[in-house]
Amino acid sequence: MIDANTDLYALIGDPVEKSLSPAIHNYCFKATKENSAYVAHTITVDNLEIALKGFATIGYKGLNVTIPHKVNVMSYLDEIDAYADKIGAVNTIKIESGKLKGYNTDGLGLLFSLEQHQFDVKDKKVLVLGAGGAARGIAMTLGLAGAKSIFIKNRTMKKAVELKDDLISALPDTIVEIIGNGRLVEDYDLIINTTSLGMYPYIHTRQLDIQFIKGKTILYDIVYKPHMTKFLKEGLENGHQVIYGIEMLIYQALVSEEIWFDKKMDKVQMGEALSTFLEELI
Ligand code: NAP
Repeated sequence: MIDANTDLYALIGDPVEKSLSPAIHNYCFKATKENSAYVAHTITVDNLEIALKGFATIGYKGLNVTIPHKVNVMSYLDEIDAYADKIGAVNTIKIESGKLKGYNTDGLGLLFSLEQHQFDVKDKKVLVLGAGGAARGIAMTLGLAGAKSIFIKNRTMKKAVELKDDLISALPDTIVEIIGNGRLVEDYDLIINTTSLGMYPYIHTRQLDIQFIKGKTILYDIVYKPHMTKFLKEGLENGHQVIYGIEMLIYQALVSEEIWFDKKMDKVQMGEALSTFLEELI
């Protein structure tokens, strides 16, 4: 029950109406008996700084940050965790004594889900489809976790080059390359779709023709709506192991809760419960 002692958390972004984050976090608060509530606020770019001051003043305990603020929010924080700083984006903020500290849990959520599939990224060859906000966090995380080589394929070459340059300067021991359409037949260990292709309502699109993929490559689609994207459906039909975007969504949320409440959660058990709960919402 919400009462005078309820701690407040929120997602900030624009738009936020379709987000599953309130459902996920309120489910967890109830399950873990935290007297906390989570809402979503539409915050425009022009209002971001003043809104952050407002959240700290009112006494919000934490925030999640989504499009379009993940990068520019960093200018308004009191402190940034070293890992988020390296990635160059923040998706989680903890507020203590009026001070805001930024973190990034997107990549950690993805990494945790890979671990659940017994996939150790160390020394692996990975292809990242896309070079947007999510690709940035994911590629950097995979590099920091020891991937041997990271290949990037993106529609807009300029963004692919920017991402490549940032990865090379942060990860001197990792091979980073951009690939064009002519070079897709490779024995990648993992291919991750981080583009919005396949996402509702563009469900009949995908970034890569599955026929070009050779070997035992694992396919991961971070798009979670629909659950079964065209990319993963074709992958399954061609005998590939696939990982669904809902896993990253759930685990990044649980890592945010670990930061806010400063305690370890049983992420596997809570993840399973959440996955059943979310089936009806997606
Ligand atoms: P973003 O920064 O806007 O990046 C979008 C990416 O998709 C860019 O690489 C863009 O290429 C590419 N793209 C978009 N339309 C395309 C088209 N018609 N043809 C080819 N490429 C196209 O978005 P984001 O934040 O990275 O999010 C991307 C997707 O990941 C969204 O579907 C989002 O819902 C999902 N996501 C999932 C999770 C999760 O937890 N599962 C977390 C974050 C994001 P250009 O550079 O050429 O524009």
